Amino acid sequence: MHATAAEPQQDVGFLPALPDGMDHRVRVLAAEDNAVYRTLLRAMLTKWGYDVVMAHDGTEAWQILQSPDAPRLAILDWMMPGLDGVEICRRVRSAGREPYIYILLLTSRTESQDLVAGMDAGADDYLLKTTKPPELRVRLRAGRRIIDLQEKLVRAREALREQATHDSLTGLLNRASILEHLQDELARAGRQDQPLCLLMVDLDHFKSVNDTYGHLAGDAVLREAARRMKAAVRRYDAIGRYGGEEFLIVLSGCEREDARARAERIRAAVAAEPFAVGAQSIQVTTSIGVACCAVSARLAPDALVRNADLAVYQAKSLGRNYVAGAGCAPQDPAVGL
Ligand SMILES: [Mg+2]
Repeated sequence: MHATAAEPQQDVGFLPALPDGMDHRVRVLAAEDNAVYRTLLRAMLTKWGYDVVMAHDGTEAWQILQSPDAPRLAILDWMMPGLDGVEICRRVRSAGREPYIYILLLTSRTESQDLVAGMDAGADDYLLKTTKPPELRVRLRAGRRIIDLQEKLVRAREALREQATHDSLTGLLNRASILEHLQDELARAGRQDQPLCLLMVDLDHFKSVNDTYGHLAGDAVLREAARRMKAAVRRYDAIGRYGGEEFLIVLSGCEREDARARAERIRAAVAAEPFAVGAQSIQVTTSIGVACCAVSARLAPDALVRNADLAVYQAKSLGRNYVAGAGCAPQDPAVGL
């Protein structure tokens, strides 16, 4: 940078000690095949508070950038043996990975045609090797700002997605999401000739919980019931809040008998101990309806939900705190398990 190959030390000494204003150390990849520039880059970047990862050529740089914990900032020499800086840009961008990697190309070229090609390949910025170090420093800082902003955007997007797909009270999937999941899983079960079962879980006498202890206690009961149910299903079973005190659980690849056993586990997990809500101890039970879609049965999602709903009514009529099951085919009447 500004230094000729013969006088790198002079340039490092020239750096003003600007306060950086960013408190966390950032890792930066510096890829440079020229040993003198490499030494210079490492010295400058270290002095500016970066954790430096060096690469001696393009192939090494590309390997580093492919690793899951790759640095988010990369300074790439344009001309390098193996892969050149532009080719690395192209590969990083076509991989489309997240988090975003901010790439600054270093070049001794000045023809604008070349610079356009570099930016077209996906570089965020470029710098001539004749540029003075303070300029590299501020350009890197601009890159860090972009990375920080991108990180905030990703977090905001994730938070929005979470909000849009989850029930805010229980943290389970919301109604639209669990129904969408059911539809997807039914389609997949059809393609792969797999069985699928659906559980509908209804908290017994929930209205009287609200009436007796108030709505805040009711909310606490819903949260605790959700927690117990979630703990009682497999990690890949989807569980969502269908309505007020109704929940749906999609058991993919699950046969009727297995679904029944799992429903029984869920029923027992909720009923096992009274819920501690403030100073109150509230006994909560569930009525669970099991609906099955046997291999090749090709049930529509709403037919399966209807069958599960019918089974819940049956469980209620059989005294609550009970598991009941509906038949596999739409024309099948609800039958006890
Ligand atoms: Mg080079």
